[in-house]
Amino acid sequence: MRSKKNRKKIKKFRIFLLFLSIVIVIFLIVFFFSPKEKDKLLQLGYTKEEKNIILNKVGEENIDSILKYGYNKNIILLMKEKAFQKEHLKQYIEALSLFQLPIKDIIFIVNSENYNKRYPYDSYLVSVMKSDYYIPSYLDRYIKYYQNNKNIKSEELITRVNSNLDYPFYTDSQKTDLSKGYLMIVNKYYHLDRDYVPQNLVTISSEYGRAGQQVEEKTYKQYIKMYQDAKKEGIHLYIISPYRSYARQNNLYQNYVARDGKQEADTYSARPGFSEHQTGLALDILSPTSTMDNFITTKEYHWLLKNAYKYGFILRYPKGKEYITGYMFESWHYRYVGEEVSTYIQKHQITYEEYYAYFVKEKQNKK
Ligand SMILES: [Zn+2]
Repeated sequence: MRSKKNRKKIKKFRIFLLFLSIVIVIFLIVFFFSPKEKDKLLQLGYTKEEKNIILNKVGEENIDSILKYGYNKNIILLMKEKAFQKEHLKQYIEALSLFQLPIKDIIFIVNSENYNKRYPYDSYLVSVMKSDYYIPSYLDRYIKYYQNNKNIKSEELITRVNSNLDYPFYTDSQKTDLSKGYLMIVNKYYHLDRDYVPQNLVTISSEYGRAGQQVEEKTYKQYIKMYQDAKKEGIHLYIISPYRSYARQNNLYQNYVARDGKQEADTYSARPGFSEHQTGLALDILSPTSTMDNFITTKEYHWLLKNAYKYGFILRYPKGKEYITGYMFESWHYRYVGEEVSTYIQKHQITYEEYYAYFVKEKQNKK
């Protein structure tokens, strides 16, 4: 009886053991053979070496987007780039599938501060973004301008949009930012109030120009320095028109309009409030014997072109830049901006419109 009972017990125990071991084996199979996340990379087709690169660059916890994307050699190329940043992994992958661009450019656009997958990134837009004077917050405007002006070079596009040429002259102009001081801009997009008068106007002595007229004090000081240095070289400068009040400009402009019509007058005369002469920082300079028409033939004109920047002055409406400044070439019109700015503008031959947009208004860093 007893041994029969024992045998039964042993049999039961054996069955239990068998069952247990089957469970353990199944568990082990599941545990060892179901691929872990990182081994899924191998299953997708990445080599061991590539898998290691991925794990090194982004860590196992961030490989979801790679697993979703499937095998792509470009992922490895992305990660080999110096500028690769792991927090942008998802966007790189997104950009890879959206845009036909080299890997370096994919990284460049995603790393740029306003990456947006809805922008039409292509090699042209990348060249715009890599141009000097590119302002990231203007990207929408660059894209829009390009869509309406297809044959334009990227550098030219930047020049035009930065100078506001995507808007018409005199339409929705804004009050200029007076807090910019010597760097304030007045043109066909930025105006001065009717009652704006510079605070520190001084009267010009007859030695330096037409007597009785006024100019901003620092501008005058710098002009005198320039005048004296020029004189030593046999160059004779003469101010014919410095500060002009709003009322005076209004008079001038209305006379021109009466004579030539508004459209013609707008090419050479500023509307009241839009004249740089109202800032007190602009000077029309000739030689004592020349006229505006023949000033370009004088040695004074050539001397100023070469030297005015040393005293903080720029030729404000240069030849070839009429479409940017909105004014015909004026060989005599100089504007005080300070030596640092005038030196930069002289070296890079850009207009004040371009300088202002990039360095003053949007405060980008010098390249
Ligand atoms: Zn002028």
